[in-house]
Amino acid sequence: GSEELITALNNELVNAGYDKEITVIKTGCFGFCGQGPIVKIHPDNVFYVQVKPEDAKEIIDEHIIKGRLVERLLFEEPEEKKKLEKHDKMAFYKKQYRIALRNCGLIDPEDIEEYIAFRGYEALGTVLSEMNPTEVCILIKDAGLRGRGGGGFPTGLKWELTNKSPGDEKYIICNADEGDPGAFMDRSILEGDPHSVIEAMAIGGFATGANTGIIYIRAEYPLAIKRLENALGQARNYGLLGKNIFDSGFDFDIMVKLGAGAFVCGEETALIHSVEGSRGEPTKKPPFPSEAGYLGKPTTVNNVETYANICPIILNGPDWFSSIGTETSKGTKVFALAGNVNNVGLVEVPMGTTLREIIYDIGGGIVGDKGFKAVQTGGPSGGVITAKDLDTPIDYESLKAIGSMMGSGGMIVMDDETCMVNIAKFYLDFTQDESCGKCTPCRIGTKRMYEILEKITDGKGTLEDLENLDILARMIKDTALCGLGQTAPNPVLSTLKYFKDEYIEHVVEGK
Ligand code: SF4
Repeated sequence: GSEELITALNNELVNAGYDKEITVIKTGCFGFCGQGPIVKIHPDNVFYVQVKPEDAKEIIDEHIIKGRLVERLLFEEPEEKKKLEKHDKMAFYKKQYRIALRNCGLIDPEDIEEYIAFRGYEALGTVLSEMNPTEVCILIKDAGLRGRGGGGFPTGLKWELTNKSPGDEKYIICNADEGDPGAFMDRSILEGDPHSVIEAMAIGGFATGANTGIIYIRAEYPLAIKRLENALGQARNYGLLGKNIFDSGFDFDIMVKLGAGAFVCGEETALIHSVEGSRGEPTKKPPFPSEAGYLGKPTTVNNVETYANICPIILNGPDWFSSIGTETSKGTKVFALAGNVNNVGLVEVPMGTTLREIIYDIGGGIVGDKGFKAVQTGGPSGGVITAKDLDTPIDYESLKAIGSMMGSGGMIVMDDETCMVNIAKFYLDFTQDESCGKCTPCRIGTKRMYEILEKITDGKGTLEDLENLDILARMIKDTALCGLGQTAPNPVLSTLKYFKDEYIEHVVEGK
């Protein structure tokens, strides 16, 4: 409904005679998805939620002309009812720290000058005029940035490995093949701030020795693709992509490749094969892409959120970045908060924030005041986390230690009425469908697991089925070729560990 709202606001500004003084800017996602459409008034920093086109007149008459708040459009939180809502004071934003999402909801993503006004392309200018490639790799290593796509590999080290690989022709790829159910972090960054990724890729290209960048993005993201193409065209027109950028002698440009939405193409070797026009199937490593990637040349693959962190690190320095987060995981992480939580949306928090803070302080607790049962992080590759671990500070290592994983940032909250066997079946349905079929344990094993789960939820399962499910899960984990198969059994294993009574209930009661 935002387009109609923008038209209505513009019409009311014309009627009121304020259309020369006040501009309506179309931005990307504010993150508070459950409360959209959102209107934020600058410089007052006032945040109106669930605004409809018919509210436009009141906002202009009351707020703009008379300087009074439209209280009914302020977000009301249980303990802060009727308090005037300033953006950064709202509980949803108070504990957030926006680095990757810094410009989302702030600038017009279709206007390069707005990006430039917020220090856009300054980091690229600094790198090209003051640093050499090795220094850039060291700076990113010192910052402690780790891959946000799920693997958590140190980004600076990845860049250094490609930089040191012999060869004149190298490539840098952006993995925008976000495919976890419930995850929309990368899409929002590309829709809300596409230049932040383009600029970071140019910096990465310089650091690794690549003159060509490739953005691999799923075709199901049409708005993100449109804004990316628009941003690439603008960057070329401004001389920020192409030959001899900033008279530095460095040439760099980016092409966009559309993916057909296969989950396995998030795995870097499968992604590279897909970009080459082959079937999107993983191959075993080594060789790593940094040695032999796209067209057999040294290649770096980073995901969207990783790139979105690069420019602030260059501008503010590695010490600033490494001062945020935990000992082993620096900076922030973006999560797509979904499921049975009141404030559904996109949140960015410092590493080390606890799940309780995310679900209750930011997320506003469980819908309908029901009890909390579990939260799934890491999408179909992760596992469930129960109430006893709600106070665990989140980072790559701690999530693994409690049986889940960071993944790319999907976070699905479940209330106490959720059937955990159904949840495991849902994820298995997804992974067995997305299996590329190359290796037997994953192709056949996940299907057999799904069939057993169906039998159990149909009330026809036996205790022996539960045993077989466990054996099969462990076998697939140990023998599948790539991460998809190796992690596919995780939702089953973790629900078996924490909620075995629910499986037994299905079996014993035949329901
Ligand atoms: Fe393909 Fe699954 Fe084997 Fe990975 S584990 S190669 S997705 S069949």
